[in-house]
Amino acid sequence: DLLKNKTALVTGAGSGIGKSIALAYAAAGANLVLSDINEAHGQEVAQQVSGQGAQVIFVKADSASPEDNEKLVKAATEKFGALHIACNNAGIGGPALPTGGYTLDGWQKVININLNGVFYGMRYQLPAMLKAGGGVIVNMASILGSVGFRTAAAYVAAKHGVVGLTQTAALEYAPQNIRINAVGPGFIDTPLLSQMNAAQKQALVALHPIGRLGKPEEVAELVLWLSSDKASFVTGSYYPVDGGYLGQ
Ligand code: NAD
Repeated sequence: DLLKNKTALVTGAGSGIGKSIALAYAAAGANLVLSDINEAHGQEVAQQVSGQGAQVIFVKADSASPEDNEKLVKAATEKFGALHIACNNAGIGGPALPTGGYTLDGWQKVININLNGVFYGMRYQLPAMLKAGGGVIVNMASILGSVGFRTAAAYVAAKHGVVGLTQTAALEYAPQNIRINAVGPGFIDTPLLSQMNAAQKQALVALHPIGRLGKPEEVAELVLWLSSDKASFVTGSYYPVDGGYLGQ
């Protein structure tokens, strides 16, 4: 019961890593505010955690919309009285193209969801957490928040941005009892990688010394720990969970 009496918000909770985080938070006793742009998937996960005994609401929200982020935090505090934990996880991969031919709309879309979405999330979560007397934010970056990757200019730029944004907000709010960290998964076997064929996935496996892709639950373990009081001295940092990818 690591998160008993805490209210935790997860964006992109309808699939992959976000879904595993929702399940981990629920198993730790939190009240859940789940959100996703995909209503059917989000509702499915909400039903699953509710079946495990968690108090949960689902709110359809587009992370790239400031208004939706504001509405989401409002729904959380109206339902549960306070917001203590937020995981800004929603994200997309975007087009795979070299920078000189990267589509302009692909760039905008990835930056809007993966970077602006994290700022909009924190923009409304932080005031709510101040009211609650403190809180914890975990932002979903990537290994590509600290190194480059061919054909992924927008994704890499957004994830580097998430790391800097995380550090800055952590400095600002550390005195007010809000801890903020970023997580950097290696390649994780989720629907995000569904555009890739078997040979492409195998090439990704080879980039991980551990010899396989990660599982969403393995990311959720780290996010759960960072979200709990066990991580009480941990703020302003970036934590890879990557099977050794960045150690090379
Ligand atoms: P996924 O595609 O399985 O899940 C992402 C979820 O986000 C989906 O349910 C989708 O509907 C939702 N979403 C997409 N756009 C949204 C929007 N505008 N507003 C709200 N929700 C939206 O992907 P995943 O692999 O679970 O990725 C989750 C996060 O982890 C992303 O930020 C991703 O960049 C990051 N990440 C993934 C990997 C990986 O290899 N899978 C590696 C490192 C980081």
